Amino acid sequence: MAGEDAVVLAVRELRKSYGEVRAVDGVSFSVHRRTVFTLLGPNGAGKTTTLEILEGLREPDSGEIELFGQRVNRVTPEMKNRMGVLLQEGGFEPYLRVREVLALFSAFFARPRPVEEVLAEVALQDKARALVKNLSGGQRQRLALGVALINDPELLFLDEPTTGLDPQARRNVWDVVERLKGEGKTIVLTTHYMEEAEALSDDVCIMDHGRVIAHGSPRALTAGLGQDTFVEFEAPGLDLETLASVGAQVHRDGEVVVLRTGDFVRTMEGLLSWSRERGVPLRNVVVRQPNLEDVFLTLTGRRLRA
Ligand code: ATP
Repeated sequence: MAGEDAVVLAVRELRKSYGEVRAVDGVSFSVHRRTVFTLLGPNGAGKTTTLEILEGLREPDSGEIELFGQRVNRVTPEMKNRMGVLLQEGGFEPYLRVREVLALFSAFFARPRPVEEVLAEVALQDKARALVKNLSGGQRQRLALGVALINDPELLFLDEPTTGLDPQARRNVWDVVERLKGEGKTIVLTTHYMEEAEALSDDVCIMDHGRVIAHGSPRALTAGLGQDTFVEFEAPGLDLETLASVGAQVHRDGEVVVLRTGDFVRTMEGLLSWSRERGVPLRNVVVRQPNLEDVFLTLTGRRLRA
């Protein structure tokens, strides 16, 4: 019997190019059973391509894949039976009802889960008779999750499961993901929302330009930035040079100025004097501890959602 911490999925030196574009450029990671593993990165980082290779939808140019304890060059149909997939662009027939969509997909598998059970799992019992076209974005995404669950998969791939959803709908999807993890599923997801990665993940691989640039638990990744405090405020058109005296690393992201400091008191005192002396108002000031966005910013000089 495989142990709790068994590796369900591992890739080594995975590569895939589209012409000149190195979409996946030597990616390696392992995913442990009963964990949520997240590929976090901006648009175009190579997350979807990596997932599509693991879902058996694309062939890698090179690299090793180990799935369910078996080393393969490409994903086999037996392996696909043990996974569930939520694609980025899951469009369902608009004039089918929710229950009909689940029944349709359950017909593809030898041992599907009962449709009613899946409806409950994704909290769509009340919508069982609703037409797909009348669902909200969040409900549609939960239906897509239900379809991904219909074969009772051990391993779930969720490609940007909450992109475009409002905060409440996003929370509802998070609740489902957490419940699934509680039931013993292994979940691999991609996102460019750092809050999502922080809220859900046991392990995060931060990707940029086809490479893994950092890897670890959210806590370990942010701990790498030490005890520094981040102070953000808005100051359109500000000359950053004038902030040299506040004793912080200064970075601008559009209209937002981000100060990173190891001496919070000095920086705040300096910032307040600076604001008073120059008559520059400080708007939307946020003081916070490091998050995954800061890890990305520190490594790349850019914000995740640039
Ligand atoms: P997103 O968050 O936008 O989905 P991503 O991190 O998932 O981004 P990919 O979709 O894997 O990134 O894309 C990685 C790179 O490969 C991008 O530069 C993209 O333009 C390119 N790419 C992806 N699919 C194709 C394709 N079918 N043909 C050519 N180039 C592609």
